[in-house]
Amino acid sequence: MRRIFGTTSFHCRPAAKIPNNRDHVHNGPLAPCLCGRERPYWGGLLHRDSPALAGGGRIASVAEGRHSKRSIVKPFYPIPYPLNAIDRLATMLPYSCLPFYCNVCGRMSMAILAKKCLPHPETQLRESVICIRCGASNRNRQVAALICRSPFAKRQYASLARFAKCECVTVYNTEAARAIHNTFNTMKSGYVCSEFVDGQLESGTRSGGILHQDLMKTSFPDQSFDLVITSDVLEHVPNPWAAFGEIHRILKPEGRHVFTIPFYQDRASTETRARLNERAEIAHLKEPVYHNDPLRPEEALVFTIFSIDVLAKLETIGFKTVMYKLHNPLLGIYAQNGLVFESFKRV
Ligand SMILES: [Zn+2]
Repeated sequence: MRRIFGTTSFHCRPAAKIPNNRDHVHNGPLAPCLCGRERPYWGGLLHRDSPALAGGGRIASVAEGRHSKRSIVKPFYPIPYPLNAIDRLATMLPYSCLPFYCNVCGRMSMAILAKKCLPHPETQLRESVICIRCGASNRNRQVAALICRSPFAKRQYASLARFAKCECVTVYNTEAARAIHNTFNTMKSGYVCSEFVDGQLESGTRSGGILHQDLMKTSFPDQSFDLVITSDVLEHVPNPWAAFGEIHRILKPEGRHVFTIPFYQDRASTETRARLNERAEIAHLKEPVYHNDPLRPEEALVFTIFSIDVLAKLETIGFKTVMYKLHNPLLGIYAQNGLVFESFKRV
């Protein structure tokens, strides 16, 4: 097994927070255990009995063009971007444990950016820089930054934890795990989360305690939410434009959709890599690319990699969309692909 973050002893939280942590193995960023016995942190953990580890747990890299159904860790963004001087310096040092303010949990934290831990920072930084306190990644903090500090929001907050505590809004998150979910889950009311559990299920069905929703046809009534969050989800939806339309339907007027997507910064048009044919079978138009999926070992196929034309398409759906490029090492936000989008439902 490839360990992204080196030795276990350095990264383990106190044993009191991880019962029986000898049963877990470190597994790179964003790989929470499927056994439900702990939450992801640092590089994330998988329980040794986790189905994701079946077959020996060889790790494949999208960036390196290797794909395997046995892949268990895929921290790579499919599109590498050159680093700027600050990022390069931070990731070139043999030992660099950099402090930052985590805008998810609202506490001072730190993360490892050393070269030993991030051998391919051009593709790894986006899913790395894991907060030692709440497990939030670089991408999580990019999303949190826009939720909390959008110039169009009525009130601004220092952190997502503060937002969840003070803001009286209805929120729909398309993730039911990880740091952003854990923070929103502290809201007293108004928070709904889901996962795409099984394509055979009807939207709105609960499976294993998790709400199943197909983003192309959810079970929510019209105008249900003030805020919808999809973080690297829409590229896995066979028809992302239907999903955008559905999000428009369930948003209240002037509601916000904050999202991240794999995005070509140097192309003019969105790339469709796969689609469903008339018999609802997957037809690959390009070499398949998969992302790590904590819910299932077979990984999630990337149907679409977006580009700048997404802004015009969202306009036709009824959104006004703003694209932000974030970079703030003080907030633990690194790399040149910190793109976050904010769509407003036009009245
Ligand atoms: Zn944190």
